[in-house]
Amino acid sequence: MAQLTESPRRPEHATQSTTVLAGDGHTLIVRKGQVFRIVDLEGNQAVDTLFYNAHDPVERYSAVDTIREQGNIYLSTGSRLLSTEGNVLMSIVADTCGRHDTLGGACSAESNTVRYSLEKRHMHSCRDNFLLALARSGSGLSKRDLPSNINFFMNVPVTPAGKLTFADGVSAAGRYVEMRAEMDVIVLISNCPQLNNPCNAYNPTPVRVMVWGPD
Ligand SMILES: [Zn+2]
Repeated sequence: MAQLTESPRRPEHATQSTTVLAGDGHTLIVRKGQVFRIVDLEGNQAVDTLFYNAHDPVERYSAVDTIREQGNIYLSTGSRLLSTEGNVLMSIVADTCGRHDTLGGACSAESNTVRYSLEKRHMHSCRDNFLLALARSGSGLSKRDLPSNINFFMNVPVTPAGKLTFADGVSAAGRYVEMRAEMDVIVLISNCPQLNNPCNAYNPTPVRVMVWGPD
C-alpha cells in the first residue's frame, strides 16, 4: 500500500467547495496552479473522473501514457496525470486513501447488462452521468470524447495472473485525494451510482470537491 500524504491546506481557506450528491455528475474548471481536492465524505465511494485541456479539449487524460510513464497501474501522491499529448494535466500532491484505479473504466447501461442482468440496463450509470454533465456544461463535448477514466477511491486489485477484480474499497469517511493543475483543465466527474458491485459498498454516497488558490 502506498504511503499516505496529508495536505497542509485547510478547508476554510478553499475558494470553492461543492457537494456532489450520491450518483450525480459534475463539471468544473480548475485553473493552472489551483489545487483540486475530492473528499470521500462517507467512505467507500468510487469517483469516476476525466480531465481535459480547457483550451483544447481534444487533449485529454490518457490512462496508457500515465501508466507507462510512472510504471504503475495505481495512482497516489506523486502521480502525474498525463494527457494524450504527453503533457501533465494534474499532479497528485496529497492522498489519504493511498490507491486509485486506472483500469476499471466507467459503468454503463451496456456493462450493467453484460455483468449483471438484462433488468439492470436502465439503472443509473457513470457513462450516462458523464454524457448528461457534458451536455449541461456547454463544452460541446459528447460521446466521442469519453476515453478511459480514473476511478478515484476505487479498489481494483490486479491478481498475479493479470486478472482485474472489483474489491471492497480501501477508502474511508473523510479520506481525500488532492492534485495541482498544471494547465487549465475541465474536470468531469461521475459520483458512481453503481448498486451491483462493491465499489460503493452497494450504497452510493456524496463527495465534496474543493479548490484552493492559486497560492
Ligand atoms: Zn459507475
